[in-house]
Amino acid sequence: MLHPVPAPVWRSTRKGALPDPAVPRRAVFLDRDGVINTVVMRGGVVSSPWTRGEFSIFPEAVDLCASLRRNGWLLVVVTNQPDLSRGNLAAEELEAMHAELQRRIHPDAIEFCASGDDSDRRRKPHPGMLLDAAERLGIDLAASWIIGDSRKDIAAGRAAGVHTILLATPYNSAVREEADAVAASHADARAIIEADADTAPKP
Ligand SMILES: [Mg+2]
Repeated sequence: MLHPVPAPVWRSTRKGALPDPAVPRRAVFLDRDGVINTVVMRGGVVSSPWTRGEFSIFPEAVDLCASLRRNGWLLVVVTNQPDLSRGNLAAEELEAMHAELQRRIHPDAIEFCASGDDSDRRRKPHPGMLLDAAERLGIDLAASWIIGDSRKDIAAGRAAGVHTILLATPYNSAVREEADAVAASHADARAIIEADADTAPKP
């Protein structure tokens, strides 16, 4: 007899990759601004790109993500974008940035939160974006990581139960003690994740 085929809940940009439902999948969650692309300084304050022209992806982030993907990690971008609701960022500019991000980083998902409301469950430091992606993609949070450059990233990671890495920058020195690890560079973050035998995916 025919059995109903369940709707696919997993998509990947990786050609030929098929999930083994028996194997919990590990992910690296990545903050966007300051981790994947450069921040934009406005009046001495760290801000986000508002146009596709301001969106500049770190070559080191491309290398990091390619390496993690090759080693079996799912990649999930988790980004607060309150400038959408504040009117500083047009939806079509965000779409253009994320199309470029998809082309060059090949994440399995891009989660963004447009709300500027600090009570929004998806707005970091709340873990909603991580939890939503984990449920949808079948991610084992305890075996996963987040790489961020802000207190909100580290707090969201801790609330979701993932390991946390702060990518050290001149503007986040006050946050370093809050993360499980501090990475001096993208390559350093990769080394920290891949040295963790308990969480590294088995080949
Ligand atoms: Mg950031």
